[in-house]
Amino acid sequence: MAQAYCDGCGLPASPEHIALRIRRIELATRFRPIHIHALFLAEAPPERLEDYFYYPAGGPAERGRLSRALSSELMMGLHVAAAEGAGDESFLAEFQRRGYFLADCLECPVADIVPGLREGTAKANAHELVHLYGATILRRIETSYRPKHIVLLSTRTRHLIPLLQQAGWGDRVLLYHGLPLHFPHPDNPGAQAQFRAGLSEIVTRAAWLTKSTWVANRSAANVVE
Ligand SMILES: [Zn+2]
Repeated sequence: MAQAYCDGCGLPASPEHIALRIRRIELATRFRPIHIHALFLAEAPPERLEDYFYYPAGGPAERGRLSRALSSELMMGLHVAAAEGAGDESFLAEFQRRGYFLADCLECPVADIVPGLREGTAKANAHELVHLYGATILRRIETSYRPKHIVLLSTRTRHLIPLLQQAGWGDRVLLYHGLPLHFPHPDNPGAQAQFRAGLSEIVTRAAWLTKSTWVANRSAANVVE
């Protein structure tokens, strides 16, 4: 049988790898807003489907620690109150309603892309990964997401900044003190605090920028009239 290749990472892949990628696309599509106000860019999806951001877990226990940390920190930082006893579905629906979308720079888990990572014999070099997949990410941003703002969700995505700037997206990238947000790792209270403070500052700035563009467009229209 001919070797199958994954459309996401371009690598020879098992049927399970391809099936999981398709499941992730289906889940994300369900919660994708028509117009993306803010695109949150993470590095790569987790290995377990239950840990994927758009997996509508029935309760926090279904998610692994890292996945749970990201969801709950986003929920708190964006002041999205989940209904009492509701699973992730209500949070994801509200996230969508506000025009937020979360996408991964790499479409497949890093461990599937970097040989030896799972065995502990290799490390995932963030710079090399961006070098490999940067053009694909940029194309997805330009042709598919076309967001008003871009928020980078992990310092490992910082190598994307020059790439986005060269492509003319620089003023849409909302950084915090010149850097992406720290991933809110549950064992790193400092990163969690930075994530919360940064997110709240960025969301305020995004709202302000949108408003000032709207006012500027309106005044420009008035001048024409
Ligand atoms: Zn793949």
